[in-house]
Amino acid sequence: MKEYDVIVIGAGLTGLVAAAAAAKRGKKVMLMAKGTGAVAFGSGTVDLLGYLPDKSIVNDFYSAVAKLPPTHPYARLGTEKVAAAAQFFLDVCKTEGFEYTGSLEKNSFLPTAAGTLKPTGLIPKTMDSSVIAAAERVLVVGFEKLKDYYPQVVAKGLSRIAGYDKQYDMINIDIRQGEPGRDFNALDVARWMDTPDGRSQFVSQLKGAVKPGTVVLVPPVLGSKPSYAVRDELEGALQCKIVELLGMPPGVTGYRLRSLFMNYIKKIGVAVAEQVNITGSIVENAIGRGVVVSTMARERIFYAKSFVLATGGFFGGGLVSGPGTASEPIFKLPLAGDMNQDNWGDLKLFAQNGQPFAQIGIRVDNNLQPVDENGRLILENVFVAGRNLPGYDYCLEKSGNGVAMASGYHAGMSV
Ligand SMILES: Cc1cc2nc3c(=O)[nH]c(=O)nc-3n(C[C@H](O)[C@H](O)[C@H](O)COP(=O)(O)OP(=O)(O)OC[C@H]3O[C@@H](n4cnc5c(N)ncnc54)[C@H](O)[C@@H]3O)c2cc1C
Repeated sequence: MKEYDVIVIGAGLTGLVAAAAAAKRGKKVMLMAKGTGAVAFGSGTVDLLGYLPDKSIVNDFYSAVAKLPPTHPYARLGTEKVAAAAQFFLDVCKTEGFEYTGSLEKNSFLPTAAGTLKPTGLIPKTMDSSVIAAAERVLVVGFEKLKDYYPQVVAKGLSRIAGYDKQYDMINIDIRQGEPGRDFNALDVARWMDTPDGRSQFVSQLKGAVKPGTVVLVPPVLGSKPSYAVRDELEGALQCKIVELLGMPPGVTGYRLRSLFMNYIKKIGVAVAEQVNITGSIVENAIGRGVVVSTMARERIFYAKSFVLATGGFFGGGLVSGPGTASEPIFKLPLAGDMNQDNWGDLKLFAQNGQPFAQIGIRVDNNLQPVDENGRLILENVFVAGRNLPGYDYCLEKSGNGVAMASGYHAGMSV
């Protein structure tokens, strides 16, 4: 019987960071997942904490955490562990040649494709918008047939914001040079930018429109790989700064972050099994022994000394709901939050206080281990992380990848 030190279930940012941290400690790690996780199509920024429950904007993470309820994942972990996780994350990105920037001391407010600003914490350097402050003119680049992206919306929205009130010009790049074909998304354009021909067409169509002192805004299309080579080449050829906007999914920048972490964990020895559906577990005397993988043909058990449950809550598949119920299907762990389904939804999509179901997660203690309603540990060797945790609403407070990174790191360091 082959036994791993750790099985991490889930390949979203939580699982990837947990696997990386555990493997760095010399553990024999297996990461198993049925899908890519949200990181693959999000924007790849690490939102630490954008808003407090009273809706005030967060500038400094450290002072904001003190104002969170004690059941919030950050309050359970404490700022020291979040800071250590952020440092680990930044180090991995740097090691892989795709350095991130940002810190817990100060949020960045990034321009979006909707012409608004969004608070976030750690960002790829292609999104560093601080250069806009000094720009004389901003050129918003669009692409013919690119879905969900309109340069006019970007220019109109940003020009109303203090610090962004500049001269805005727009230009549309034609990837197909007039040839007919389907609409495309940002990942299609990024793959076109991966090719020398794509980059040379981009430069030749843009060159006449870029004057000295111009900052160029593009959707997230500067290559599909975790590398700054495309941006550097284009900035050199056009002699200007280029900034990627936060866009609609697929975010491409998130796809790059996922590739970066996947490459890294494989390099440091993590075994990766993708497209595997874990349907149950083997538990003996309050200790998890193995997880069950079901295929059409048979069931197989994978054994480990410890487990990280990073299966992504309702969205990722880690929690499932049916009429009148919600449950965690692998270890059958109890949930925390309002279990009365009548209270789960607010009919207003963008409800002021968020959607109540978003606060539901697996009941944990401050070590992020599963406990019963009396606080007694249920499984000694299982850690819960990421969107499986209760007590926070990442959409409302902008903390999705931040909680994923911090709790994933904690789990990886604790197993
Ligand atoms: C469209 C979108 C955009 C976002 N953009 C941002 C952003 O820009 N910045 C930010 O900070 N946050 C963003 N977020 C939020 C953030 O992505 C999530 O909060 C965070 O990724 C949660 O990560 P996770 O790893 O816990 O879960 P997930 O990313 O959902 O990953 C869960 C993993 O578990 C696997 N899994 C589940 N059940 C099983 C099973 N039974 N067997 C095997 N595998 C299983 C899934 O396949 C998946 O690999 C975004 C979210 C979405 C949906």
